[in-house]
Amino acid sequence: PAETLDELVALCKRRGFIFPGSEIYGGLQGTYDYGPLGVELKNNLKQAWWRRNVYERDDMEGLDASILTHRLVLHYSGHEATFADPMVDNRITKKRYRLDHLLKDQPEEVLRRLYRAMEVEEGNFHALVQAMMASPERAGGAMTAAQVLDPASGEPGDWTPPRYFNMMFKTYVGPVEEEAALAYLRPETAQGIFINFKNVLDATSRKLPFGIAQIGKAFRNEITPRNFIFRVREFEQMEIEYFVRPGEDEYWHRYWVEERLKWWQEMGLSRENLVPYQQPPEELAHYAKATVDILYRFPHGLEELEGIANRTDFDLGSHTKDQEALGITAKVLKNEHSTQRLAYRDPETGKWFVPYVIEPSAGVDRGVLALLAEAFTREELPSGEERIVLKLKPQLAPIKVAVIPLVKNRPEITEYAKRLKARLLGLGLGRVVYEDTGNIGKAYRRHDEVGTPFAITVDYDTIGQSKDGTTKLKDTVTVRDRDTMEQIRLHVDELEGFLREKLRW
Ligand code: ATP
Repeated sequence: PAETLDELVALCKRRGFIFPGSEIYGGLQGTYDYGPLGVELKNNLKQAWWRRNVYERDDMEGLDASILTHRLVLHYSGHEATFADPMVDNRITKKRYRLDHLLKDQPEEVLRRLYRAMEVEEGNFHALVQAMMASPERAGGAMTAAQVLDPASGEPGDWTPPRYFNMMFKTYVGPVEEEAALAYLRPETAQGIFINFKNVLDATSRKLPFGIAQIGKAFRNEITPRNFIFRVREFEQMEIEYFVRPGEDEYWHRYWVEERLKWWQEMGLSRENLVPYQQPPEELAHYAKATVDILYRFPHGLEELEGIANRTDFDLGSHTKDQEALGITAKVLKNEHSTQRLAYRDPETGKWFVPYVIEPSAGVDRGVLALLAEAFTREELPSGEERIVLKLKPQLAPIKVAVIPLVKNRPEITEYAKRLKARLLGLGLGRVVYEDTGNIGKAYRRHDEVGTPFAITVDYDTIGQSKDGTTKLKDTVTVRDRDTMEQIRLHVDELEGFLREKLRW
């Protein structure tokens, strides 16, 4: 696996996976562009998720809701009031930080002084941040007195009282920038699922339990985007809202944690690097009854890849009309605008109730980063040379097969290779490339680095011009395996079976 983010960043730039956003104008912080190989890898990951969670199940429907979101959706969901991170400024350097990130990066003795100044039990980090947000004036003074360091200067700062910063991106719909036209870019895909609950239910006549799955962009104005594509301002999520009967929620919560852990392993992440973390009660979001985060050992540390929350009837209960009659159990804002009843009629008793929801919510970009980190391998060859290989699952690899003519100046060979490329592409297994840049050794190295599982070479034998003068090897090619570097010779008619088997999910 990769040891540092830097080696991944360098590979991604060099080979065309991921570039900094708006780079030629100095970059736009917290944005990245997926290049020729990144877009393939990302699409493959999303397709694998969709296939597992929508196609292979009989209790799931898909959705693609809009990104621009009515203000009331994010009012009643609670985001307008509470989707905020604590932020603090250094008056000396004018730098701004997310409070918890800043504190986590401090030397131990600085933190110890801060715990003491805030009179919080040492080691209870969550309580420390809470205490600081409860008395911001005191917290600002305590940070300055404890000599909290500014990572930008490495010097103690003069800190302002911390305050909350709402992370939603605002925009205006229509030509006039006025309050009434305010809308948001969605900060999560989930809300689009909740507000379409009745539409999907009416259209599909689903019975509980069932889920709605969605993949799409989400936007958060993160105070300190960092760690490459781990924390960005524009990212993608793969989210499921799985609706269940109250009382069955705990079973389904456990079920989804297991299911998702299994899936990430099937994608190639090793079990040792995946850590399920049950949030203690004091860390839980106000709407959650229980949350298990799936943490991954990223090169920069053990951090969240996916969160699986039991959200009870909070979401449908927040957006439904007739809240009182439906007897919602979660604490929700009184909804005076919703025009629909987001509830389920029990087919046996005829009674209406609001389903509970289990939400497995994964980040696509964090998934891509984890896959790259896990797959990145440095090997020393018997010759003493080093090779870098991306040992991605063949199914996820951006390019499945590279077809390489041994020489570029023999039309029989290059034409044969081009025809073979077209034929293999026709199998529908993903991207197949015809590759005649550089010599064959260079082509192999390049494809090792981008994770292409198979390199197929068309040579003199293939066109029936073997050195021994026979045509025994006509229509055979060499197939080189990325991981073992072993080459076998196959008849071109055997390639379909071979590749289908190797690329099967
Ligand atoms: P964090 O605590 O790291 O800010 P979160 O708990 O706020 O994340 P959720 O709201 O649970 O994140 O979002 C679900 C998933 O979306 C996360 O597990 C993560 O994979 C992804 N995600 C959230 N914020 C970002 C971001 N800024 N950049 C990339 N992915 C993100």
